[in-house]
Amino acid sequence: MSVSVFDLFKIGIGPSSSHTVGPMIAARQFACQLQAGPGLAAVHGVTVELFGSLSATGVGHGTDKAVLLGLAGHEPDKIDPDQIEPAIAAIRAGKTLALLGERTVPFTEKEHLLFRRKSLPLHPNGLCFHAYDAEGTEIAQREFYSVGGGFVIDASGERVLNQAATAQPGSAGHQQGLPHPFHTGAELLAQCRATGLTPAQVMAANEEHWRSAAEVQRQLMAIWHTMAGAVRRGCASTGHLPGPMQVRRRAAELHHKLSSAPEAALRDPLSMLDWVNLYAMAVNEENAAGGRVVTAPTNGAAGVIPAVLHYYVNFLQGNCKADEDGIATFLLTAGAIGIIYKENASLSGAEVGCQGEVGVACSMAAGALAAVMGGTPEQIENAAEIGMEHNLGMTCDPVGGLVQIPCIERNAMGAIKAINAARMALRGDGQHVVSLDKVIKTMMQTGADMKVKYKETSRGGLAVNVVEC
Ligand code: SF4
Repeated sequence: MSVSVFDLFKIGIGPSSSHTVGPMIAARQFACQLQAGPGLAAVHGVTVELFGSLSATGVGHGTDKAVLLGLAGHEPDKIDPDQIEPAIAAIRAGKTLALLGERTVPFTEKEHLLFRRKSLPLHPNGLCFHAYDAEGTEIAQREFYSVGGGFVIDASGERVLNQAATAQPGSAGHQQGLPHPFHTGAELLAQCRATGLTPAQVMAANEEHWRSAAEVQRQLMAIWHTMAGAVRRGCASTGHLPGPMQVRRRAAELHHKLSSAPEAALRDPLSMLDWVNLYAMAVNEENAAGGRVVTAPTNGAAGVIPAVLHYYVNFLQGNCKADEDGIATFLLTAGAIGIIYKENASLSGAEVGCQGEVGVACSMAAGALAAVMGGTPEQIENAAEIGMEHNLGMTCDPVGGLVQIPCIERNAMGAIKAINAARMALRGDGQHVVSLDKVIKTMMQTGADMKVKYKETSRGGLAVNVVEC
């Protein structure tokens, strides 16, 4: 598989890339296949089965709504977050669902959306769709797996692309002829040494195999502006997050405190940490509320990279006017590191715990920050390695199956850790004992050894020790 930076950074909606974005893509794909196959007119009913982690934490993560919206033809990057609740309410009130907005079939969640405790063979996040004719005979059946970060595969292991994405050159899957292919940290460093390019320049050259340099830059800036928008909205939103815990949104209050007493920063040299915490929490509160965020590389971990990128723009560049080249370098470097995780390990909390989400985001952000601070390729690889090494073993135990506790604060901690990892690497010469590839291998092995109850099932850890109100 060949992965693009735009496969890792996807504009979508909260609260979960594996449990919301992926299932929405899978459901829409099934509806599109019905349209292309037997035809929507032949379909008189559909049922959906959710397996494993999608069943265990699907309601808290919005999987149920995502599947309905996907069948109705919505796409995560295009749907207006404000239109989600009205669309779901209409389906529930009418007890019908219009496949791709065209073919209305009866649909009640109790009867047609089924939660199965067991897992399907390929991955803990499995879905199975069925379609029936007028006599109730099954005319189509497809299995999908949402394998983390909004990536979806089918039962044969083939990547399933969002229908809109398939029309664009440069989506993952087109690996022929990349000028600088790499699959591991060692191969990325070898490309840098052979060509004299930085990791960001290697990535840019590969991206330009699929799309023009101007289009790469345009899409990178769209990613940045969406991240910045999530920070802005998170800093302006008050009240409580959805769900029975009634978790209070804190970013707006923190933003007000920090903005209204700037002189306090002069007395406290670590006040910058408050701002980094704010950026991360603002994004993750927005994600938990089902708002517009960038999967980076997952939604649960969507706050780490924007927080460190805002730290770079607001504190290291010295003003709020973003240097677009620096932002592009940051995102391309983060993407290069994320690809190595995607190709050799996992981005799925259901597969490897939170190591694969906040851990990977921390690693990507650490390497990216080292890059824009002038690090060599070796220092960048070292920063990425440190960013993961100290997240090894981190479990996924969301309280109430919601991407709120511990996820929101965990992103803030991941961002701070990434900044420290970059600084540690930049104080060295790039030589180090544990390579990025070795830490990725260790992360994958640790995830395989981790008990299922610590992998996005809400059956262990904080999820069982914190009582929901
Ligand atoms: S604990 Fe980590 S992996 Fe699990 S849902 Fe929260 S952010 Fe995602």
